[in-house]
Amino acid sequence: MLNGVGNMAWLGAATLFILSLRGLSHPASARRGNVYGVCGMTIAVLATLLVTRGASLGIAVGAALVGGGIGAWLARRVEMTQMPQLVAVLHSFVGLAATLIAFANALSPASASSVVEHAIHDTEIYVGAFIGTITFAGSIVAFLKLQGTMGGKPLVLPARHLINAVALALCVVLGYRFVSATDSAQALVALGVMCAIAGVLGVHLVMAIGGADMPVVVSMLNSYSGWAAAATGFMLDNDLLVTTGALVGSSGAILSYIMCRAMNRSFVSVILGGFGAVAATTSATPEGEVVATTVEEVGTLLRDAAEVVIVPGYGMAVAQAQGTISEITRRLRAQGVRVRFGIHPVAGRLPGHMNVLLAEAKVPYDIVLEMDEINEDFTNTDVVLVIGANDIVNPGAQEDAGSPIAGMPVLEVWRARTVVVSKRSMATGYAGVDNPLFYKDNTRMLFGDAKGSVDALLRQLEAA
Ligand code: NDP
Repeated sequence: MLNGVGNMAWLGAATLFILSLRGLSHPASARRGNVYGVCGMTIAVLATLLVTRGASLGIAVGAALVGGGIGAWLARRVEMTQMPQLVAVLHSFVGLAATLIAFANALSPASASSVVEHAIHDTEIYVGAFIGTITFAGSIVAFLKLQGTMGGKPLVLPARHLINAVALALCVVLGYRFVSATDSAQALVALGVMCAIAGVLGVHLVMAIGGADMPVVVSMLNSYSGWAAAATGFMLDNDLLVTTGALVGSSGAILSYIMCRAMNRSFVSVILGGFGAVAATTSATPEGEVVATTVEEVGTLLRDAAEVVIVPGYGMAVAQAQGTISEITRRLRAQGVRVRFGIHPVAGRLPGHMNVLLAEAKVPYDIVLEMDEINEDFTNTDVVLVIGANDIVNPGAQEDAGSPIAGMPVLEVWRARTVVVSKRSMATGYAGVDNPLFYKDNTRMLFGDAKGSVDALLRQLEAA
């Protein structure tokens, strides 16, 4: 009876997760998608507790309360700009959980009725531990890179692809030893050695990826964490975990693929730690003069413009300038200026980062355009206002074949009549490369914290 109710609840939860993913595919329906996800997860947790009987129920409720408490505390403390790091840490938890559950299963083997069933269960344990460890180790490196503790430059070891291939081959051999082991000590040694190798492989795969390609790595680790959860579901014989894991795994893989296409990168190359990628050479130092501007000048430029495009980047998120930018947009539109936003697929530090911030600041969706929709319009634009963006507007991606971001599509803002860049200094962006945009004749640099600059700009527009 309880199992029947549990299964029905799991089916309902899985359906809500699918509706949630659908909702999250567009900013207008994202809030609804989140509500579906929360409802699905609540049902899933309650149903799991319901079917968990005996002494373990107390442990499960206790763990859910402690985990939920830590999660709620973290969610309240974490700044929006720290979300990518938080996501990376959460991925590492999923990976670690899969590995620990695999060890728990290996230590107390289930009573399988046949040799084949036994081999299948062992394979589930092994694959779960393998994906789990790679996800755990890779996500820790991703966390350190996003946190800035570790530099964004790719680690390029001379025989890196050979190292990866040998590590993978060793894991396959150890897998055979694990499944065919006659005593549990032998099996545990094989599992433990494989996890050590998979850990090194996970670290190496992510360290070999440069800063600009990190978005794909993050969504790829998201996908891996889903597959790790699905593997755990097989080990625990939990259909909901298998379904949910597969949903996360496949949607993460699709997102990684879409991001690779948007960034003109090879999907296979990125998941194999840069396999087949051309190594970047030192990019040339940009030529030209940097011209600084003032809030007053920018105010005049905007008031005299007919067409304005605002390009937000990570710096807008750091400065939390979106509210004022929304107000400036409202004011300019009221004065008859056509204002639109150009969003690069990897702007900020999370997929959809800028869309979330602009939605939060109540910028209408219909003036927020994707890179492909706006790129051709820059030639007819009077003023482009770049707010804390750098890599996503770097012409070096098109002009400098030796640049680490060579080939990555960028917002071609330099084609506009005037480009105003709001940032604090001449510092590089996440990819660590100089930006020739700042040296172009039609670029004006508005130095200072983006929030301070746009607040002053709003005052200037209001006073006029
Ligand atoms: P960048 O990191 O390239 O540039 C951000 C710029 O903002 C910096 O150059 C910085 O310059 C400026 N800045 C920082 N703080 C402030 C502030 N308070 N006020 C004004 N300016 C500020 O960001 P982009 O959005 O242009 O590009 C995103 C980069 O991040 C890409 O390389 C992408 O690949 C990578 N990435 C993206 C992820 C995603 O999923 N979207 C995930 C991981 C990485 P200064 O210090 O001079 O102010």
